[in-house]
Amino acid sequence: MSSTRPLFSFRLEAVDPESGARAGRFETPHGAILTPAFMPVGTQATVKSLSPEELEQLGAQIILSNTYHLYLRPGTEAIAKLGGLHHFMNWRRPILTDSGGFQVFSLSHLRKVDQGGATFRSHIDGSEQRLTPERAILAQEQLGADVIMCFDECVEHPATYERTREAMERTHRWAARCRRVQSRADQALFGIVQGGGYDDLRAESAAALVALDFPGYAIGGVSVGESKEDCWRVTGQVAPLLPQGKPRYLMGVGSPEDLVGGVTRGVDLFDCVLPTRIARNGTILTDDGRVTATRSALRLQEAPLDPTCDCYTCTHFSAAYVHHLFKAEELLAYRLASIHNLRYMARLSARLREAIVAGRFGAFRREFLARYRVADETTRQAQRDKRLAAWAAARPRLDEGQTANDEGLKQMQSAKCKVQGERSADDQSHDHAVT
Ligand SMILES: [Zn+2]
Repeated sequence: MSSTRPLFSFRLEAVDPESGARAGRFETPHGAILTPAFMPVGTQATVKSLSPEELEQLGAQIILSNTYHLYLRPGTEAIAKLGGLHHFMNWRRPILTDSGGFQVFSLSHLRKVDQGGATFRSHIDGSEQRLTPERAILAQEQLGADVIMCFDECVEHPATYERTREAMERTHRWAARCRRVQSRADQALFGIVQGGGYDDLRAESAAALVALDFPGYAIGGVSVGESKEDCWRVTGQVAPLLPQGKPRYLMGVGSPEDLVGGVTRGVDLFDCVLPTRIARNGTILTDDGRVTATRSALRLQEAPLDPTCDCYTCTHFSAAYVHHLFKAEELLAYRLASIHNLRYMARLSARLREAIVAGRFGAFRREFLARYRVADETTRQAQRDKRLAAWAAARPRLDEGQTANDEGLKQMQSAKCKVQGERSADDQSHDHAVT
């Protein structure tokens, strides 16, 4: 009789028969998400340097925000009083919040994990805090995101079999508790599969969570320092164990090549700080791989950074201008590069989807991977070190030819520490949600 539409639904529109890559439509109270989809990360209720209007314009369908950070500051209760996260940050489209679990175990000074929950010290002011499955759900209900996550224990890498099993079993008990206390019908609670790099634990975890019948599932405990090979082995093993008709989310994974890798293994949703973090370091994503905006070849390039791109940056500015902004350390540089990289990820998601729907995903994947130059870990590390060294060396010359007197040197060192501090906080959280 009633024709009320369900608040959530997931429909598969096409599946690539060869790989199992999926194109779907995920309906939420704040609109539909066409999958595969990349979720930009807005750690502190903001995607760094961008306004919600800019995010909409570049095609962000859903963003991710971090419960851990918002729980500590300004407080999830405060955000609830201010109308919830959508209203607070003026974002009309869907939001996913994580449970805080990953940050508690990676970023905070963890004091104790027991059956009840986790006690930790805030990384902001050192105050003692405690998150339990019940509190993590309450905090996420106060925030009011469309998709919320179970509170889980993510183990470090590498971890022994016993340690991984213990954390996994706790994660399952916590998942059941999260399921029990979750009360808002306008939020979809996803379960998180753990089990580290152990195939039997992963299979056990998938089965335990599927038995709890969540509206969607995430593969957690990846992108925590394991090899790419291990990440894909786990993803390829777990995805087929999850229900076909529900969305699948690979947590903390989302470079361009990883998006292709995850989609190939049947994943629908991705998040990663990488596109925005490397944007602020002057690295631009293109179909040829990563391009450094400060390289001298771009100094006089009138063409945009990526001539095939339709983003605000590429349709309004030359590569030479963006190159100049980065050289001069102007704030607009970070905005323009972030806009481009997020537009690139949105377009790549849409192109993957189109290819799946059109039945030519295999060809698209082969062509993409043949062209895209992947920066290996050693190259990335070397580039990072080189940038830091070059930046430090160039600094005294930027002070209008002054010699580095004591005061200047002090400023320089403190600025450098800040840059390194930011970077090490990022590294601590790997590619997860700390931008
Ligand atoms: Zn662009």
